[in-house]
Amino acid sequence: GKQVCECNTCYHGPHCSTYIPHCPADVNSGDPTFLEPYWMKNAASSAVVVAGWHRMSYIFSDHSYTSQELEKSIHRLHSIAGNAVTEGKYVVFGTGSTQLLNAAVHALSLDNSSTPSKVVVSIPFYPAYKVQTEFFATEEYEFDGDVSSYTNNSGDSVNAIEFVTSPNNPDGKLKKAVLKGPSAKAIHDHAYNWPHYTAISSPSDEDLMIFTLSKLTGHAGVRFGWAFVKDKVVYERMSTYTDDNTFGVSRDIQLRALKLLNVVLDGDGRSLFKYAYEIMKNRWESLSRTVALSTRFTIQDIAPSFCTFFQNVRGPSPAYAWLKCEREEDEQCYQVLQAGGILGRDGTLFGASSRYVRLSLIKYQDDFDQLLQHLNKLVLQEEGAT
Ligand code: PMP
Repeated sequence: GKQVCECNTCYHGPHCSTYIPHCPADVNSGDPTFLEPYWMKNAASSAVVVAGWHRMSYIFSDHSYTSQELEKSIHRLHSIAGNAVTEGKYVVFGTGSTQLLNAAVHALSLDNSSTPSKVVVSIPFYPAYKVQTEFFATEEYEFDGDVSSYTNNSGDSVNAIEFVTSPNNPDGKLKKAVLKGPSAKAIHDHAYNWPHYTAISSPSDEDLMIFTLSKLTGHAGVRFGWAFVKDKVVYERMSTYTDDNTFGVSRDIQLRALKLLNVVLDGDGRSLFKYAYEIMKNRWESLSRTVALSTRFTIQDIAPSFCTFFQNVRGPSPAYAWLKCEREEDEQCYQVLQAGGILGRDGTLFGASSRYVRLSLIKYQDDFDQLLQHLNKLVLQEEGAT
């Protein structure tokens, strides 16, 4: 039976069984709760019990802040997924990948430069890059928005740090750095570079790559991320950041991450990756069927492609739908959807037009079902809907 946890916002009562009429679908946040049932099925093997005396020290027995066991498991996981080349690269742990995003900006910004490094993105982009860079801005670096204003320069001539999110949040597109050249600097955010969300074509081999447990196992609340760094100086600057800030990542977080990754590794990753991909693929197909009946709404196009992990050509399974309102009068797409009972995230937050809204597809099944139900209603209301 269903374990009693929190009710989806559209249900109440002792068993979360009473539906609140006209309740809107909340598909705003990127909380990856779609994986909760997987961990309910693996409840015993993934449990961590910690005695009061255990691991009280600041340091592990090798005098470091980081677990070597965990580092080994991370390397193994990437070699199984085939999504990143990790040999010959340094590893930095972070309290969520969020901490590492700013550690990377700090590490890549030039020392002793007379002007701050410019932190740039390509549109649409994950809003935290801007929020965080502006919050922490020092004389070292500043947020400077759209990278396309730099494309007349080569990466050499500008003191810029580019965030490259691949697959991208919000639109799931595979991205390459816009700035090129030997001194171009990029932070490759691979939060969604797992078989759940994208076909793995070849392992990414960038100089600075960031991953997170949040979108891999769904444990966003554990707050664990890691980075692979090619350059020793950049690695040292990132490590100094996390060491000086928090004395590294909580040993309890590392213990829990290790337990979870070892459950994933137990079946060579196959069980989690297959489970996650099936759900995401099915959701995308259901959503696509509904949108295909509409002339009012469109979603992004992602071509099927060969996946080295599954060893076949596979269809799209992105974490988010990037929905566009096509009608002239629907300029405020967020409001159009809101009136139809769908709470997404306004495209303007991603630097895009208000004709776009991001819909999260990684929440609970109830959230997705409610989204589909409201969207179907909207589409059926369209005049002359086919
Ligand atoms: N990068 C991207 C592209 C994300 O979408 C997210 C989470 N929404 C993060 C980083 C941060 O994740 P966390 O701090 O939980 O690792």
